[in-house]
Amino acid sequence: MQEMTYGITLPETPREFGFFINGEWRGGRELYERDSPSHGVPVTLTSRCTPDDVNDAVAAARLAFDDRRWAGLPGGARAGVLLRTAEGIRQRREEIARWEVLENGKPISQARGEIDHCIACFETAAGAARLLHGDSFNNLGDNLFGMVLREPIGVVGLITPWNFPFLILCERVPFILASGCTLVVKPAEVTSATTLILADILAEAGLPAGVYNVVTGTGRTIGQALTEHPDIDMLSFTGSTAVGRSCVHASGDSNLKKLGLELGGKNPIIVFADADLEDAADAAAFGISFNTGQCCVSSSRLIVERTVAEKFETILADKMKKIRVGDPFDPETQVGAITTTSQNETILNYIAKGKEEGAKILTGGEVLDCGNGRYIAPTLFSGVKSSMAIAREEIFGPVLSSFHFDSLDEAISLANDTVYGLAASVWSKNIDKALTVTRRVRAGRFWVNTIMAGGPETPTGGFKQSGWGRETGILGVEEYTQAKSVHIETGGRSHWIAS
Ligand code: NDP
Repeated sequence: MQEMTYGITLPETPREFGFFINGEWRGGRELYERDSPSHGVPVTLTSRCTPDDVNDAVAAARLAFDDRRWAGLPGGARAGVLLRTAEGIRQRREEIARWEVLENGKPISQARGEIDHCIACFETAAGAARLLHGDSFNNLGDNLFGMVLREPIGVVGLITPWNFPFLILCERVPFILASGCTLVVKPAEVTSATTLILADILAEAGLPAGVYNVVTGTGRTIGQALTEHPDIDMLSFTGSTAVGRSCVHASGDSNLKKLGLELGGKNPIIVFADADLEDAADAAAFGISFNTGQCCVSSSRLIVERTVAEKFETILADKMKKIRVGDPFDPETQVGAITTTSQNETILNYIAKGKEEGAKILTGGEVLDCGNGRYIAPTLFSGVKSSMAIAREEIFGPVLSSFHFDSLDEAISLANDTVYGLAASVWSKNIDKALTVTRRVRAGRFWVNTIMAGGPETPTGGFKQSGWGRETGILGVEEYTQAKSVHIETGGRSHWIAS
């Protein structure tokens, strides 16, 4: 019998998952063994698919698109499948949460909250499936009528990261399905389980075979095969800016497939002296520690008005010290384990670099001994200069860099001093200041006197090098469609060639 942790029995042997093509489970490939980042025991075995498996999966998705078994259904029928999937996820909430914890290391309470968001994504997309429509033009003259049809783009390749394996999946899949597209998914190899579980839930909900296919394996082989595949019409990629760039090259070198990219961030949280400092400090602590800072919208740059900077940093450091880091199965845990050994090393290297470059640690900076896993204390650096690596590069860990400003213009200029533009948060009781910042800082998602709020109704995506396109909301469905303009002559054509 394996060890129990907070009432959860760790798997005695790792669970083996196959891969899913054309409505069938397949196996027989080399297996990858995944250890729990928090408990150090093997938890899953997933298949290392081959490029031939990718070809099979794309062929299945192609056929399922071309024969219109999905795109040809009324939006209401697609909505029915999405709503039944939402219910299926609800029924299996605890099981999905458990696999997210075992493979990713995130706290169980957080995993449950994310799954609730995923259910909402399916419900929202179901509404969009019914309402998706084109446009018409009756102002082209009495003899010409115009229509704009919204058509699904075709076969979508979807590559997802390890930081929110189920959440990012569910912020894409229902919206892709609502549009009428079919897809082939490749999850990050270290966190494949819940993407595979979704295959069963979708099939039980009545999704036709071949519409949702999953191939597993590394990015370098399976991911790259998708980016280069000539029969994929659109690729949605979420992950590092470096791989995002390689997707752009692969698209250019293959079939010019459309790209949706959600990449890195170096997101500012701007705090004015007139803000509720307790609220803002709580948000800053949450914004950098949520998901151990392994979050594209982490608020990793604190930009605080100089007159209150010292006071604010003291309140914040005190709050960060109180964050409960530990075993993610403990329902009280707020911050779990770092997901991969390489990410752990990256974060620790950045902390060392910050110290070397002269920034001052106000709290954290050390490895925590919380049992059999990788844990890093939430860390606050003060005295950070714009030239430092910790100021410019995405750390993807619980490491916050603090900057001070004297004027509104300086705050905006510091906030925009990054190649990224994913998200931003501003704290002030003065509506003029808050709105000026909101309008002048270049970021795809903005929070005023709050942080990481919102649901699947609104779109997500980045400005600048944080990405292309939008996911979720109506725009997130339209992203997977293309417009076709149709002109209908209603009055008899005036001849070009005289008879
Ligand atoms: P990657 O960009 O390498 O991984 C993201 C996804 O892309 C995974 O599914 C990965 O597969 C796949 N992938 C990797 N290489 C290729 C390739 N050549 N072609 C196609 N797909 C590929 O991120 P990392 O996991 O290496 O993390 C590195 C950094 O990226 C982090 O420190 C963070 O800064 C950033 N990041 C940002 C995320 C975001 O949400 N914006 C999410 C994750 C990372 P596999 O992992 O199986 O090899």
